[in-house]
Amino acid sequence: MATEKGSISIHTENIFPIIKKFLYSDNEIFLRELVSNAVDAVQKIKRLSALGQYNGELGEPLVEVSLDAAAKTITISDNGLGMTAEEIKKYINQVAFSGASEFVEKFKDAKDANEIIGKFGLGFYSAFMVADLVEIQTLSYQEGATPAKWTCDGSTEFEIADGNRTTRGTSIILHVNTESEEFLSEQKLQEILDKYAKFLPVPIQFGTKTNQQEDGKDEEGKTKYKSVEVANIINTTNPIWTKAPADLSDEDYLDFYKQLYPFSEDPLFWIHLNVDYPFNLTGVLYFPKVKEDFDMQRNKIKLFSRQVFITDEVKDIVPEFLMLLHGVIDSPDIPLNVSRSFLQADSNVKKINSYITKKVADKLAELYNKDRKAYEEKWSNIGLFVKYGMISEEKFYDKAKDFALLTNTKGENFTFEEYKEKVAPIQTDKNGNVVYLYTTDLDKQDGFIQAAEKRDYDVLVMNTPIDAHFVSSLEQKLEKTQLKRVDASVANQLIEKDEALESVLSEEQSTNVKTIFEKAVGKPNFSVEVVALNPDDAPVTITMDEFMRRMKDMAKMGGGMSFYGNMPDSYKVAINGNHKLVSKILASTNEEEQNKFAKQAIDLALLSQGMLTGAELTAFVSRSVELI
Ligand code: ADP
Ligand code: MG
Repeated sequence: MATEKGSISIHTENIFPIIKKFLYSDNEIFLRELVSNAVDAVQKIKRLSALGQYNGELGEPLVEVSLDAAAKTITISDNGLGMTAEEIKKYINQVAFSGASEFVEKFKDAKDANEIIGKFGLGFYSAFMVADLVEIQTLSYQEGATPAKWTCDGSTEFEIADGNRTTRGTSIILHVNTESEEFLSEQKLQEILDKYAKFLPVPIQFGTKTNQQEDGKDEEGKTKYKSVEVANIINTTNPIWTKAPADLSDEDYLDFYKQLYPFSEDPLFWIHLNVDYPFNLTGVLYFPKVKEDFDMQRNKIKLFSRQVFITDEVKDIVPEFLMLLHGVIDSPDIPLNVSRSFLQADSNVKKINSYITKKVADKLAELYNKDRKAYEEKWSNIGLFVKYGMISEEKFYDKAKDFALLTNTKGENFTFEEYKEKVAPIQTDKNGNVVYLYTTDLDKQDGFIQAAEKRDYDVLVMNTPIDAHFVSSLEQKLEKTQLKRVDASVANQLIEKDEALESVLSEEQSTNVKTIFEKAVGKPNFSVEVVALNPDDAPVTITMDEFMRRMKDMAKMGGGMSFYGNMPDSYKVAINGNHKLVSKILASTNEEEQNKFAKQAIDLALLSQGMLTGAELTAFVSRSVELI
C-alpha cells in the first residue's frame, strides 16, 4: 500500500474541537479559570472604587457558583465590574480569535492544558471544554451602561444582544455537554472548588438547587417536594500566608496545617516566607516529623498564584532536599506555562530556590542558637533534611556545618567542631588523620563497638538510609579526616598507630596457628592472618575492608558500582595470637581437637556478627553440645 503524506490544515473554526480534544484530561480547570475571572472582576471594581473611579454602591464582594442539575447548567456569577457590549467584543471575541491562529499553529507541542490556557489567554474559552453553549449575561459598572448578553455554541459564530442582568456584574452560564455530565454533580464541583478555590481572596458561594425539601401533600396524599437552593461559602479569603507573621500565633499556624492536611500529626516547626523584591513570594513551609515511609510525605507542598491553587508539583521550584516539607508557596512570578526544563533555567525560579534554601538554613540556625536542648530533641526528625541538604547543596553545607549534629552510641550530640575536638587526641592515626568511627547497626556490630570503646574510642551512629552518602560527603569535606565503620578491622588496627603490641608467639608458632585456622575456615574468600592484639580482645574477628564494603553498599543502592557489586564478599579473619585460646590450641597434640577448637572460635565470631546461618549454624550447635 502506498503511503500517503500530507499536512492537516487547521482553520480558526476548528479551535473549539481542539480545545476539547487536547485539554480533555484536565478539563476540570474550566472552573478554576471562570472563578478566577470572576474574582478578578470583583477585585477590579474594588480598586476602581478605591481610586474614586467608581462611586456607586460596592456591596459585599461575592462570587457565586451554582449548579442546576435538572437544567444541566453551571453558572458562575459575580458582582464585579461587568462588561459593556463593546468590552465583550474586545476582551472575549478579539482576544480569543486573534490568539487562535497562533494557537492552532502550536497546539501540537503543548503538553498539558495549563500550558495552552495560559499561553494563549484562553482562560475564558476553557468553558468550551465542558459546555456546548456558553452564555454571558453582564452589566457594566459604567454609568448608563445597559445589560448585554453574549452567546456562542463553540463555533466561530457568536451573538451579542440585550441582556437581562439587573445588577452590576457578570454571569457565565454553561450548558454542559453530554460528555461532561460528570460535572453536574454537587460532589464533583465541591471537590474541584476545594482544590482550586479554597483560599481565593473573594468569598465564593457554592449553591445547588435540590428538590429535597418536603412541601406538604398532593391530592393523593403523596409528599410534595419543592425546589430550594442550598448555598455555602466554601473558602477562606485571608489564608495565613497572606498575613504578617507578627499577627499570627503558633495556634494559627497549627490550625492552618490541620486545614491543609487533616489527620496529620502536628509539624515540628515552620517558616513563613515573605518577599516582594526581586520577586514576589509568600508562603508557609512546615517541617513534619519524618516517617519511615517518607516517600508518602513527598509532594505535599501546594503552589498558588495569587491565592489560586495551581499544582502540587513543585519539584523544580523547591530545592529537592526540601521536598519532604509541607505547606504552601504563592508566587505570581513563577512562569506557569512553560516546560520543566525552561522552569529550571528561569532566573526567578533560581532565585526562589536559593531564597528558600537560605530561609531554611537561617531557621535551623536560629533554633539551634536559641535552645540547643530543644534542637537536639528535634534532630532525629530534621537530621534527614539537613544531611540531604548538605550533600546536595554546597551553599546549604556552608551554613549547616555549624548546626549539623553527629550522634554517638551513647546518644550524645556534637557539632562538627565539638566532635573533632573530642576525638582528635585519641583517634589521630600515625599519618595525622583523625579517624571517625561509626556503626550502621548497633546490634550486629555490638562486639566491635565494645572493643573500640574499650580503647576509649568514640563511635558515631550512622544508621539511616541517607548516612551512607553522608559519610562519603563528610570525608570529602572535612580536612584530614577519615571515616571508618567500626567493623572495618580489628580494634587495634582501626586507627593505625606507631606502637604495635608484641606477639607472644614465635614465628613458627604463628605459621602453625595460621595453617590450623585456614583449614578450619575452609573458604577461599576468607583470608586468615595472625595478629597481636590485647589478650582480652576476641580470639577471632571477622572484618570486611572499609573501601570494599562501601563500594558494595553503593552498588547495592545502584550507585553505578556494579563491578564491586558482582564481586564475592571477601573477609579478613584476624586471629588474636595473644589470646589464651590460641595458646591452648597450640598446646594440644590432637589434630582433630585443634580443628574443632578453631572451628568453634570462628563460628563464635560469625555468630556474634549475625553471619552464621543454615547448615553451619546447625553444625555449630551440635559441636557446642558435644564440647560441653
Ligand atoms: P485573562 O483572565 O487571562 O485576561 P480570560 O480569557 O480568562 O483571560 O479572560 C479574558 C478577558 O475577559 C478578561 O481579561 C476580562 O477582561 C474579561 N472577563 C472574563 N470574565 C470576566 C468577568 N467575570 N467579569 C468581567 N470581565 C471578564
Ligand atoms: Mg482568566
